[in-house]
Amino acid sequence: MKVESVRGMRDILPEETPLWQKLEAEIRAAFALYGYREIRVPLVERVELFSRGVGEETEVVDKQMYVFPDRKGLPLALRPEATASVVRAYVEHGLHAKGDLAKLYYLGAMFRYEKPQLGRQRQFHQYGVEAIGSLDPALDAEVMDLAWHLMERLALRREGLLLRLNSIGCRDDRPVYREALQGYFAARVGDLCPECRRRLETNPLRILDCKEEGCRALARSAPRSVDHLCPGCRQHFADVQAHLADLGLAHEFDPTLVRGLDYYTRTVFELCSRDLGAQDALLGGGRYDDLVELLGGPPTPAVGFAGGMERLVIVLSAQQGAEGASAPALDLYLVPIGDDARREGAKLLAAVRRSGLSVDTDYMGRSLRKAMQVAGRTARYAAILGPDELARGEIKLKNLATGEEKAVRLPQFAADPHTLIR
Ligand code: AMP
Repeated sequence: MKVESVRGMRDILPEETPLWQKLEAEIRAAFALYGYREIRVPLVERVELFSRGVGEETEVVDKQMYVFPDRKGLPLALRPEATASVVRAYVEHGLHAKGDLAKLYYLGAMFRYEKPQLGRQRQFHQYGVEAIGSLDPALDAEVMDLAWHLMERLALRREGLLLRLNSIGCRDDRPVYREALQGYFAARVGDLCPECRRRLETNPLRILDCKEEGCRALARSAPRSVDHLCPGCRQHFADVQAHLADLGLAHEFDPTLVRGLDYYTRTVFELCSRDLGAQDALLGGGRYDDLVELLGGPPTPAVGFAGGMERLVIVLSAQQGAEGASAPALDLYLVPIGDDARREGAKLLAAVRRSGLSVDTDYMGRSLRKAMQVAGRTARYAAILGPDELARGEIKLKNLATGEEKAVRLPQFAADPHTLIR
């Protein structure tokens, strides 16, 4: 019986992994330049971490979370995002007690039961940063600078990118704004989609994010969060924008931008790509100044972002096209002819690998011609060992790009293959 993978959960095949590895390396390097250190948090957490941290009323928690009891009945969830876990770890390990700003980054799989489409899966991978411990608006700007820097490193077309920015205020501003939104939408409830009619009671901010055309039209004229900020938040947002201008970072103020997770406060932003379809957000983030306290730590402001690996892969693959057709993965391919050569070859393979060169050989009983075809596809050099070579104590090296051949003494080859194939 053939067992298939679960809908929305893809295999990343060997043809694709070189690009993933390159992206991961660039992401780690960029994060390190800005002083972030990696944290690895579990894939599974207690459900309450997300219902409290991300918000019971958010779609992510309410509709999309994979929830299951363990064998003792403890309700667990596959993580739908990592910020709540990082903050849990920050509180649990007393990282706040060290008194400094904690700059943490992560890379890994997240799970959301969403409708799969291009750029949206049920198992997807996020990279993200969390800077926990400061309210400084310069830090918000630095986090957005990091997002831009990452895109530059990956050589994404700058014209294809757009940084959208808004401020949704602090927890004291929220009830006032919520009321203003409820008043506005309640008067136009007939034009809202059924889902948004429900949101009107539970989470009116989310109406601003609805994709239905009727709701979007209403959202464009809805009360704006920036008009409901307290003086402190207004100043903070002005300072963030001033810092962005100092850094020369292009951005667009978008009063309708809200984020899907309840923990956000003050600054929210999204970096979008014009090269993606409906799912155009490459990354999103902002401040979450109450989350540490909400999860049992002392009041501690924080800012961060998370981006989707799959979406980077889509944009980069489209941009680079076939140019990414990869170089041969192996340095060498050993082609032994006959049983004696195979036995001698096995020893050579072990020696060459220990010298740090990648090498493989044929285990399928292929003819010389077929084995050379495999060599041509997979390696830079072929090393041919037949009865004649063996009798002379030699091996034949062939440069597969130029066709050039040379005979090399076997002991020399085993001892120092590097100098021979440069
Ligand atoms: P969020 O955690 O919802 O703020 O999402 C942050 C980023 O993660 C988005 O901008 C996307 O790039 C990516 N992302 C979120 N959900 C998915 C998904 N279901 N599939 C692929 N990428 C996703």
